Amino acid sequence: MNYPKIILNKGKEVSPLRFHPWIFSGAIAKKDAGINEGDIVEVYSSQNQFLAIGYYANGSIAIRIISFTKTVIDESFWFEKINKAYNYRKQLNILNENTNVCRLFFGEGDGASGLILDLYNGHVVFQAHSWGIYLQKENVVEALKKVLGTTLKSIYNKSAETLLKQFAENVQNGFLFGGESEVLVKENDHTFKIDFVGGQKTGFFVDQRENRKLLSGYSENKTVLNTFSYTGGFSVYACAAGASMVHSVDVSKPAIELCNKNIELNNCKNHESFAADTFEYLKEKQNIYDIIILDPPAFAKNRDSKHNAIQAYKRLNATAIKLIKPNGLLFTFSCSGVVDKFLFYNTIASAAMEARRNVKVLHYLNQPADHPVTPYFPEGEYLKGMVLWVE
Ligand code: SAH
Repeated sequence: MNYPKIILNKGKEVSPLRFHPWIFSGAIAKKDAGINEGDIVEVYSSQNQFLAIGYYANGSIAIRIISFTKTVIDESFWFEKINKAYNYRKQLNILNENTNVCRLFFGEGDGASGLILDLYNGHVVFQAHSWGIYLQKENVVEALKKVLGTTLKSIYNKSAETLLKQFAENVQNGFLFGGESEVLVKENDHTFKIDFVGGQKTGFFVDQRENRKLLSGYSENKTVLNTFSYTGGFSVYACAAGASMVHSVDVSKPAIELCNKNIELNNCKNHESFAADTFEYLKEKQNIYDIIILDPPAFAKNRDSKHNAIQAYKRLNATAIKLIKPNGLLFTFSCSGVVDKFLFYNTIASAAMEARRNVKVLHYLNQPADHPVTPYFPEGEYLKGMVLWVE
């Protein structure tokens, strides 16, 4: 099968030859007539050498590559891609008897920009971040049925919030297969209730699994403050590991309700939650916490907001560092893509200076292997964190 053709400007083949999955509009010399948003296209060099297959978008990133070999984009193409992603996670033992929740497909990291699939104990949330991926929805659904077989319980489309406005107009979130919405998962043997229909993002922050586990090891007999707690991921781990007191703070009431439910599901004691703004909450606090966790939403969504975001990270971290009991710990994170890890580390260093406390770095943290980063697409690394020992 031949797809419409796009020819790049001279020299612009180097990027796809290095397996970078994006082609910017300025790299395009010529394109066939009648190519619409989301259409599958073939990409050629100025010398007419085949480079890749991708899907087209009217924007600065004009082509997102989904294959570097000539192939047909159909159900079996998606089966192979998703099956590969599933086997990779099984092989790495991310899915095991203690954990049945993970990111099943992570965009570029798994070879298809724009496609996110989260697996919640047999329930899949499908999230398209581009119209091109949304057009592949039926193929993806059929592929998922084959990959997961009888273990598949439902597929829920949650793309209305992630597609651009003009495309989201006619898209409604809803089940594409099955219909269960009361979902319980196990993560490192802790139980969580997932509300992917009403919750934020795809329902759960799957990317903090290993960092939560790290917290467990430090929590026994400690007083812990989990800010931006969402549904209590870090709180459950700290409580279950024997913390003497855990406080969860989140501005969202539904998130706090689900957090309380999760605490209950794990038979945890010594927990209290607060529906409050973290900045306000910290203002009124005394030094009662051995460990503080800061996992805010992305403060910087684009380059223009980067400077303000850095100031906000610095202010938040300085406030928290001042509040930590002597010889306590700070777990601090940023999920802003435009704030790279070095900028983040430097920001935390200046927060510590501002707080006038002596600190040591115990860990540099990142996203787990089910959110793979490839050397061809370093932009895929978005989660960074640090654990500081605060004297
Ligand atoms: N640590 C969580 C994920 C945090 S996501 C986990 O492991 O699951 C970020 C959370 O911050 C969201 O739940 C959002 O409701 C909350 N939030 C955003 N702004 C806030 C603010 N100013 N104060 C408190 N919570 C806030």
